[in-house]
Amino acid sequence: MGVNSDPLLGGEGFLTTTIEAFANWGRKNSLWPMPFGTACCAIEMMGVFASRFDLSRFGAEVARFSPRQADLMIVSGTITYKMASVCRRIYDQMPEPKWVIAMGSCTCGGGPFDSYAVVQGIDEFLPVDVYVGGCPPRPEALIDAVMKIQKKIEMKGAPVV
Ligand code: SF4
Repeated sequence: MGVNSDPLLGGEGFLTTTIEAFANWGRKNSLWPMPFGTACCAIEMMGVFASRFDLSRFGAEVARFSPRQADLMIVSGTITYKMASVCRRIYDQMPEPKWVIAMGSCTCGGGPFDSYAVVQGIDEFLPVDVYVGGCPPRPEALIDAVMKIQKKIEMKGAPVV
């Protein structure tokens, strides 16, 4: 893409990449999360955005409550069937490419609420990229999930092991 100024190469040569790899490098380092918090797990999510855990170190601190400006949905909290359609509609309003983190036991599988009113896992209506277990998960676990999303973007959508 440009002239290489590395002295080992004598100031000559070129750095090559693809447009897609360059775009993914930018995407992974500037995620704009759409927080969808409904219950206790959302408190831990807020902690991740605050100074102690400082998600800005990973380039993902610009939380957007407008879905059209977001590319990472973080669903944290109990999701009822009544709320599921709202959640899906917000997801649909986010532009591609986009990713989803399911944070907490409730979002991953209903948690302690084995009830007719509670969705038993948001993957019933959303394509989840990373699941974070725990009731609630520690903030570090959400940071780890964001790093997994970054890895997934870097690998161009390949599954993260
Ligand atoms: S997983 Fe636990 S902490 Fe999180 S929303 Fe459900 S009950 Fe609350």
